[in-house]
Amino acid sequence: MPIFNFDNSYLQLSDKFYREVKPNPAPHPELLLLNKDLMKDLDLEVLDENELVKILSGNGIVEDSQPIAQAYAGHQFGHFTMLGDGRAILLGEHLTESNLRFDIQLKGAGQTPFSRRGDGKAAVKPMLREFLMSEAMHNLGVPTSRSLAVIITGEPVYRETVLDGAVLTRVMSSHIRVGTFEFARYFGGIEEVRELMNYTINRHFPELNDAQNPALALLEKVMDLQMDLIVNWLRIGFIHGVMNTDNTSIPGETFDYGPCAFMGIYNPETVFSSIDRDGRYAFGNQPNIIKWNLSRWAETLLSLIDPDEKKAIELATEKINSFDEIFTQKWWEMMFAKLGISNPKPGDDDLVNELLRLMELHQKDYTNTFTYLRMPEIFDENQFFLDEKFEAWIQKWKSRIKLENGGTNFAFELMKKQNPVLIPRNYYVEKALDEAEKSDFLFFHSFLDLLKTPYEFLPEMKEFLQTPDEFDSNYMTFCGT
Ligand code: AMP
Ligand code: MG
Repeated sequence: MPIFNFDNSYLQLSDKFYREVKPNPAPHPELLLLNKDLMKDLDLEVLDENELVKILSGNGIVEDSQPIAQAYAGHQFGHFTMLGDGRAILLGEHLTESNLRFDIQLKGAGQTPFSRRGDGKAAVKPMLREFLMSEAMHNLGVPTSRSLAVIITGEPVYRETVLDGAVLTRVMSSHIRVGTFEFARYFGGIEEVRELMNYTINRHFPELNDAQNPALALLEKVMDLQMDLIVNWLRIGFIHGVMNTDNTSIPGETFDYGPCAFMGIYNPETVFSSIDRDGRYAFGNQPNIIKWNLSRWAETLLSLIDPDEKKAIELATEKINSFDEIFTQKWWEMMFAKLGISNPKPGDDDLVNELLRLMELHQKDYTNTFTYLRMPEIFDENQFFLDEKFEAWIQKWKSRIKLENGGTNFAFELMKKQNPVLIPRNYYVEKALDEAEKSDFLFFHSFLDLLKTPYEFLPEMKEFLQTPDEFDSNYMTFCGT
């Protein structure tokens, strides 16, 4: 019985959009991680694990799989360039029993025509990191690519040192990105954009086929999904780290987990990525960047929005200009909900602003601050916020949420859904990865397990709420090659 139920709709696109490739066989594949929950979600039944390892290590091409590398371009740190899957190979689109379609992609299975000078391979630690972070994001309720397995290849990869090679299986509703449209527009032409747009609409948003202006409707829809995604990131303190247009997904999922990290102490300027020297992708700049990326995307759609260029620019600009107002509205709603407020009143915005200001001023942890409001008892020192201004703020907030429909209890219920207790803090992520790299997965698995219920406080979580002073201020992340 085949493991995957593959279909390959992407191959219907003209052959500019991809190259057929073969994964590089792994000499000594060994399964390090398998995501049983995801297997279930995908209706994958594995009778023979060896068979699965063979497929996911690139050692056996499955029936119905026509592996391809996808072409795409993108703006990296603002500069436009040709890219493409240089170390990723799409095995096929798996259809679940209820006909949901997911890309099954191998990351690190060797070179493709888009590899340029890269080796197409991946080292084990960044792949474990992607597994951990993407699963944590999924359990935090944020749309994301997922990770099905990590397999060690038995082949060395050469970076600054010699490392163990690995292949990660990435699962995503599709890998269509802003950069795919940029490729179609600037390395093809308007017919290619039309082809890609029709494919995207049929695959992800079939209801838009009936829209009066499908291109404009698609712009609006994806803008909305991306705004919701960024609001989610801001809600949980997530910093993507490399929001290039090739890493901006059209179906609105978080992906490319290279340099991402979670913010501890609240500061909108927080950056961890070693190459983001100007803070382009800083925590608080993520809304500006997504708007910029969506603008680059809108430019590729212009002739489909209206054949009259002036009219098209007018319509697209109007949509893009609506970003600020809609995003701001969504952001406030999210911040109010973090404080337990579902029916905002005048003055509530001051409450939010003041809390953020106090957090920044007193260098308080973003996640723990919201947890403290609801459950001060779980923190050791009741000194958490002994500052007078904080105390005054808390009193003000307490009297405010009493006025909510359902009172404080309802407010707390809402807060519980909005504010994770446990996030994958950088210190513990690194500890889990360092130990796993030395083949000790005990900590990795217990951490991953706790991250399955991040909104539910468990006593075992307590030790994961604090990290050594100064760890984050020296922490640096890297684009995972
Ligand atoms: P990323 O930073 O992962 O978004 O990758 C940017 C571009 O570099 C994409 O085209 C990747 O496919 C390519 N790339 C990254 N790492 C490698 C590698 N080891 N070998 C070949 N191409 C790579
Ligand atoms: Mg990428």
